[in-house]
Amino acid sequence: MTTLSQTALHDLSVQQLASALASKQISAVEAAQHFLARSQAHGELGAYVEFNPEATLAQAAAADARLAQGTAGALEGVPVAHKDIFVTKDFTTTAGSRMLKGYRSPFDATVVAKLAQSGMVTLGKLNCDEFAMGSSNENSAVAPVGHEAPAPVRNPWNTDRIPGGSSGGSAVAVAARLAPAATGTDTGGSIRQPASFCGITGIKPTYGRASRYGMVAFASSLDQAGPMARNAEDCALLLSALCGPDLDRDSTSLDVPAEDYRRNLNDSIEGLRIGVPKEFFGDGLADDVRAAVNAALAQYEQLGAKLVPITLPRTELSIPVYYIIAPAEASSNLSRFDGVKFGHRAAQFADLADMYKKTRSEGFGEEVQRRIMIGTYVLSHGYYDAYYLQAQKIRRMIADDFQNAFKECDVIAGPVAPTVAWKLGEKSDDPVANYLADIFTLPASLAGLPGMSLPVGFSNTAQDQGLPIGMQLIGNYFKEAQLLNAAHRFQQATDFHLAKPAGF
Ligand code: GLN
Repeated sequence: MTTLSQTALHDLSVQQLASALASKQISAVEAAQHFLARSQAHGELGAYVEFNPEATLAQAAAADARLAQGTAGALEGVPVAHKDIFVTKDFTTTAGSRMLKGYRSPFDATVVAKLAQSGMVTLGKLNCDEFAMGSSNENSAVAPVGHEAPAPVRNPWNTDRIPGGSSGGSAVAVAARLAPAATGTDTGGSIRQPASFCGITGIKPTYGRASRYGMVAFASSLDQAGPMARNAEDCALLLSALCGPDLDRDSTSLDVPAEDYRRNLNDSIEGLRIGVPKEFFGDGLADDVRAAVNAALAQYEQLGAKLVPITLPRTELSIPVYYIIAPAEASSNLSRFDGVKFGHRAAQFADLADMYKKTRSEGFGEEVQRRIMIGTYVLSHGYYDAYYLQAQKIRRMIADDFQNAFKECDVIAGPVAPTVAWKLGEKSDDPVANYLADIFTLPASLAGLPGMSLPVGFSNTAQDQGLPIGMQLIGNYFKEAQLLNAAHRFQQATDFHLAKPAGF
């Protein structure tokens, strides 16, 4: 056992920090100061878009008071940073967009409020793709702290690489030990893919499990919040705190009581049936990713699990289906940004229509405009049946394919993405290349299933040497505890999740 005195504060897990705080070996103010100083010192990574040290330290002092009074929550005093898509009272919320520059919400998102109720202290807000649209975090229009203009979010394993997206800042903050944990959102893979690219662990729960209240909406039937941390146990701690019904505020919130997601962590996985979809191991999969995922599957067999070949026949269709449905919903959600109610408004315009047009042209970035146009087109009279309705039908079939698969297996395993993190700029002019890289995360999103990513290796090819590789686990509805159990048992037997990028 490493003792606290031998380990730097930023190398402690959420669980270790929580117990050090509870036993008063450290104070919440000390922890907050330590992580704030580290986070501020690493502006070159572009992970944070805002700090408010006064608010952070006030939250930490309040946590210390509760620790002293014996009224502490489960995660009292543990620092956390939030993806800048969750609205916050103490920080501005931009969703990565010029449209929301300087926007301050009068309330906290439910996820933020719930983590605060469990005692967590907010370090700051984290960079993300504009309105969570992207796979590389290159779509942010916001200047990270320490930069005058928008600047890349850099992968700490190789700073010439993208961190993944859209929750890129969240993944970087956790991987570089700038925060012990972070929140993310996943519409089509935005928790799982950046977690995979940055060598950390992340989970997207069943759709409806976490409240969407106060999460700036992208595609409402897909958007789901979840934690990103260094291991499955930490994810379980945060997920238990942030999930739960929010029926008065979110019409898609499920009326299912909160759970303790740690309850199955140590269960044996002897006999666990792991479905291996053949469509996830086709020609497009890079050799280094294939090798690492196969090695992880072999490790699971060692732990007593059984591998079951399965098929998810409509895997490829998930790309066109998602890139019709998500833009359709986005075009509707983003119509609220009209320069009237809140956000940016063009300075000069001739009339109301001109004001809308100029406001949106100035406020929305290229990718967001592209999606609004696609979404408006597929919803328009004459094209609705051909695109949107067809996509909805196939979405249902994709969900049915999973239910067929779950007749034969308990969880499904495969790669998170076809490759490791690519170079900054490599695909920034090619939206379709970005969309194609989402192939393995989109199916679970369309079906509303819980999915997670855990580190299972590193590339050893000449060009991608040392870049992390993640494996995806997909569970049936409400089987988050089972996914976390499978991930935790793997992490007890391996140390990929303990590796950290050089210099951090
Ligand atoms: N990469 C996908 C997209 O661009 C998913 C993003 C997300 O999950 N927020 O839409």
